[in-house]
Amino acid sequence: MPLLLIKNEIMAIRLSNNCSNCDHLLDGDVCTKHKVLVNPHYTCDSFEMKASIKDERNCVTCARYEESDCANPTKASIGMLCAAWAPQAAKA
Ligand code: SF4
Ligand code: SF4
Repeated sequence: MPLLLIKNEIMAIRLSNNCSNCDHLLDGDVCTKHKVLVNPHYTCDSFEMKASIKDERNCVTCARYEESDCANPTKASIGMLCAAWAPQAAKA
């Protein structure tokens, strides 16, 4: 899990819901929803997680699984999922 040290505080970097992880993004940074060029770091209310990421989300594929930053360490298991799920190889 990448960590960032800011003013003596260690902060976990989380995956954001941005264009690079959105199902509406085509090669060439074209948004099929709005028909415009976008920056992979943009986001909007129409964001939809890529199906390839969405389909494989569960604790076993979570970067936080069995790590100190897991949101539900006593419940995490195969087939379980929570809002803090993070991909093991994030593209951001
Ligand atoms: S602008 Fe919105 S809909 Fe388009 S790719 Fe980005 S997050 Fe997805
Ligand atoms: S409980 Fe949440 S944070 Fe913990 S491994 Fe499962 S999905 Fe990830």
